[in-house]
Amino acid sequence: MKRNSLFFFLCISLVLIALSTSGCSSNSKSQAAQSPSEASIKNESNVESTSVKQGINNSQNAEDRSTVNQNSQVSTFSETSSASATEARQRVETFPIIYYHSIKTIPNNELGMPPEAFEEQISYLAKHGYHSVSSIQLYNYYYKNGSLPSRPIMITFDDGYMDNYTTALPILKKYGFTATVFLIVKKVGDPNCLTWKEVKELDQEGWDIQSHTLTHPDLTKISPNLLKEELVDSKAILEKELGKPIQFFAYPSGRHNDNVVQDVKNAGYLMAFSTLKGWTEKDMNPFLVHRIYCYASMGLTEFSRRVTNPQY
Ligand SMILES: [Zn+2]
Repeated sequence: MKRNSLFFFLCISLVLIALSTSGCSSNSKSQAAQSPSEASIKNESNVESTSVKQGINNSQNAEDRSTVNQNSQVSTFSETSSASATEARQRVETFPIIYYHSIKTIPNNELGMPPEAFEEQISYLAKHGYHSVSSIQLYNYYYKNGSLPSRPIMITFDDGYMDNYTTALPILKKYGFTATVFLIVKKVGDPNCLTWKEVKELDQEGWDIQSHTLTHPDLTKISPNLLKEELVDSKAILEKELGKPIQFFAYPSGRHNDNVVQDVKNAGYLMAFSTLKGWTEKDMNPFLVHRIYCYASMGLTEFSRRVTNPQY
């Protein structure tokens, strides 16, 4: 009898141990998801060159990856979740906005994304069921109760390099995506920059063309009059050329302060995109939208980690 009782006790103990450990992984997941690393608020404003004129031969250091949260298991759109489970989410509160500059190999320059790497990334997005979102879709979704496609992603290009038309457009078109270009208005037509004809063709292809100032200055360092001119005139010129309202803006090299943000609002923009690291969130400041930096040497593993993990 004693031996039978001991056996029974052991069996009950084993069942209890099994039950108590089965929830561990999900607990640790949610805990990690609630405590974003400091890296998620790291400003990546130093990654962009100061102007197209200076070119992108100005080698920039990629983000300090040592601060990045390596827990790739925390994911809203994890590799393992089924498409139907994703579509079942009624309101996605956070999703990735990626940003590029030039889609061209440039030695020792992280801003020049090799076309093969770019295609690999875009092909990854297509294969995993992502759909591109424009700036007005983003705005309407967050603030006007608009809708988003399943697995939303916003693909953006800063500055207006010619290869956005010659290289990125055919690749994106092949995989069924459109993108947003934040254009330096007075650089249009310069060597290696988009021409107005190309800008208009992108617009006709369903791309989203928005303002990135007239001349790409550091907006925190220019006079109030010049600041206003960069914001208001770039908007007016684009509106005249494209015949549609221009309501979105990206800060040159991500540089901004309270005064600049206020002037962007005053100029009539609805939202402004920064180089602050992380996914966009519904409760964010609409004039400091976060974006994901895409750099030449990142590789597909790092790219996929950033677009699947809100806490990357
Ligand atoms: Zn720029």
